[in-house]
Amino acid sequence: MYRHDRYAAASMSTRVAKPLSDWLSSYTGADMRLVDYTLAKRAKLTELRGGRLARTDVCDAHPELLRAARNVGERTLVPCPVCAEESLVHVTYVFGDALHQRSGRVWPRDGLADLHRSMDEVACYVVEVCTTCCWNHLAQRYLLGRRHVG
Ligand SMILES: [Zn+2]
Repeated sequence: MYRHDRYAAASMSTRVAKPLSDWLSSYTGADMRLVDYTLAKRAKLTELRGGRLARTDVCDAHPELLRAARNVGERTLVPCPVCAEESLVHVTYVFGDALHQRSGRVWPRDGLADLHRSMDEVACYVVEVCTTCCWNHLAQRYLLGRRHVG
């Protein structure tokens, strides 16, 4: 089992729809600047292909996440690993005490540079989403801010 990232879990629970917060908070990496979740993703896809998980178990993106993906998501060149019909979209959630009410919100990619310059530290969680089949998975977690410059 993964340790809980209490910082994210506490913020997520009030800001993000429940199913999303549940699985985001099940990951950890609070002490690392960049955490890549490729291994966890591979494990989940292996379970799907082996029949231990149903497609409905992994293609369950919340409507709010889908809306964010369509409106402010960053389209990638990577095809969806489940349906292969659509390329994945990245949606970034940001957390930080200094963000106050805005902590835990979806952040447009082109606004991250401003956060990096103006905040001491914010944690960014990048979720990959397929807007066709609703596959979604945490892709990366990283830290931005003046504390991490250089
Ligand atoms: Zn898909």
